[in-house]
Amino acid sequence: MPRITLPDGTVKSYDAPVTAAQVAADIGAGLAKAALGAKVDGTLTDLSTTLDRDCTLAIVTMKRREGGIDPEALTLLRHSAAHIMAEAIQRLFPQVRLVYGPPLETGFYYDMAFPDGKVPSTDDFARIEAEMAKIVAEDRRFTRYDLPLAEGMAKLRTEGSKYKLDNAERAAEAGSTTLSWYATGHPGKDWEDLCRGPHVPNTGRVGAFKVMSLASSYWKGDETSDRLTRVYGTAFATKPELEAHMVQLEEARKRDHRVLGKQLRLFHIDEMVGQGLILWTPKGSIIRNELQNFIGTELRKQGYQQVYTPHIGKLDLYRTSGHFPYYRESQYPPIVEHDEMARLASEGCTCADLSNRMAQGEVDGYMLRPMNCPHHIRIFASAPHSYRDLPVRLAEFGTVYRWEQSGEIGGMTRVRGFTQDDAHLFVREDQVAQEVLGCLSLVKIIFATLGMNEYRVRVGLRDPDSAKYVGDPANWDKAEKACRDAARSLGVPFIEEPGEAAFYGPKIDFVVKDVIGRSWQLGTVQVDYNLPIRFDLSYAGADNQPHRPVMIHRAPFGSMERFIGCLIEHFAGAFPLWLSPEQVRVLPISEKSAAYADELCAALKARGIRAETDHSNERVQAKIKIAAEEKIPYMAVVGPRDAESRAVSVRARGVEANLGEMPFDAFVDGILREAEGRMLSGAPGSVQASFTARSA
Ligand SMILES: [Zn+2]
Ligand SMILES: [Zn+2]
Repeated sequence: MPRITLPDGTVKSYDAPVTAAQVAADIGAGLAKAALGAKVDGTLTDLSTTLDRDCTLAIVTMKRREGGIDPEALTLLRHSAAHIMAEAIQRLFPQVRLVYGPPLETGFYYDMAFPDGKVPSTDDFARIEAEMAKIVAEDRRFTRYDLPLAEGMAKLRTEGSKYKLDNAERAAEAGSTTLSWYATGHPGKDWEDLCRGPHVPNTGRVGAFKVMSLASSYWKGDETSDRLTRVYGTAFATKPELEAHMVQLEEARKRDHRVLGKQLRLFHIDEMVGQGLILWTPKGSIIRNELQNFIGTELRKQGYQQVYTPHIGKLDLYRTSGHFPYYRESQYPPIVEHDEMARLASEGCTCADLSNRMAQGEVDGYMLRPMNCPHHIRIFASAPHSYRDLPVRLAEFGTVYRWEQSGEIGGMTRVRGFTQDDAHLFVREDQVAQEVLGCLSLVKIIFATLGMNEYRVRVGLRDPDSAKYVGDPANWDKAEKACRDAARSLGVPFIEEPGEAAFYGPKIDFVVKDVIGRSWQLGTVQVDYNLPIRFDLSYAGADNQPHRPVMIHRAPFGSMERFIGCLIEHFAGAFPLWLSPEQVRVLPISEKSAAYADELCAALKARGIRAETDHSNERVQAKIKIAAEEKIPYMAVVGPRDAESRAVSVRARGVEANLGEMPFDAFVDGILREAEGRMLSGAPGSVQASFTARSA
């Protein structure tokens, strides 16, 4: 009879099958009360699940053992809230046909069809929420029952919902021999839904919820199929958590890089050019250039060499690297030469033939590169190397192209062409630790300069039970230790994730938390034992024998697109002086001070500062308002008196009052020092801080 192993290693033995809920109660009344679900042998399931054989069991509550909210508890809660919302909508819109309602990272949705065309609007949200509140107050039990496949299908046919029938057919195709339903209460009496679960035990456990928004979608994502309405909602265990989430959403809306990017004219996405292809406007290009210069300077200090390589390469190159024909789904289709195309056409080759023959290597062509590594590898391989030459560190802001489904792209975070802050290091086995550490120290410098102090790293390690990994296990041990030590040296939180390494090597991922608490997954540092083998790379060792180098791929910020999208939101568009597209705007009070304004602007420009003068006929208050909207860091207001005393009245972005006066030369020098020092806005040593220092 079942022996149940708990997370702390203790074992509970039972004489008869027992439910997870019962085990929770045996452990303690507190746990039984807090329990929302269970993990049996690692799989999330209902608390009512019967355990009839030996297994591991963890009781899921809102709090994780190591602290913080358990995302799996939220999954249970939100999927349960989706059922509650569907029942509420069905009460108010009896014609509704339910399609599919999964939990999401931030909430849940339910796709619904309204065949009579009476679709809920945002005006109905309050009514829907009121019905949901009733269901929650009734504290009904989520009750699962299973039917054999044939019987279950017959039931669905009688009920006549083609969407649920389709869901069931797909479950059957995937090998299910039974179908399961969840009744919110008593089967046969209360509302129910075809569902795999799992759920929280009772509706009363859904502590706080909200209907969020509507979107239109299509059945199976197919635009020629039935039009559906997607109703989004969210749920939390408590009201304060929901309120905090709403505040965060509001703040996120104000900072949304898609909105700010348009408003501040930083980038443009053009239907005529193509979805997911970013056009960097002059202003956005300045930010990107400044950032690339900064990263490039730091790379040079660390001994990297800059290279340039083309955006396409032959299929054979990617066949050798293993990127083609695998991952074909995430790439643009290959490019075939004119002559080859004509020859194939004359043979009557169909598109399907062509695709197969390319995959098999019978037809050659080119590909928009999905990765920069193969090009860098060929540069390394183009000359002999001795052990003394290593490490070779090749860096490129390399543009790559990947195919994202059209529904997934928007803004700068999911794009079809992007430029990685890429580099490849070819190192000796004994240099791996040092080089991984070097990669991380660079990240530390750049995050510190940008004021991104909250970030964490994930170290992806081998799955101890798998044999899929290439390379010598002893070297893996060393590389994993190197990654772990390097992560520790950053002095930021890091977690180890066994099983998250690629088959070719361990890795370090960076996740940065922005000012409003959202996480952005950026780039990675990856040790690779595989590509050096595939490309048969070698260097001459001290013994004069050929040795295999190890590769390190590193693109710690991911891509310039994603990183700058993240930075726009991090700074809410108010970039520090050195990154700002326009750094100083000179505002003459009237025509009389125009010449002095021009002189100041010219002096700034001569020192490389991006300055402009507003010569419009607007009153100075209006000029200040415009410059503030454009988030320009400094305004230099000049009137006839300033011209006489060769001074400048300084205003800083985000500060209501005039900061005060500064001599002409001191202002120009101060601006230059702040920009060259890559200071954060208002940091000690900045022009703005010099005024506070003075008044203090
Ligand atoms: Zn469900
Ligand atoms: Zn690479």
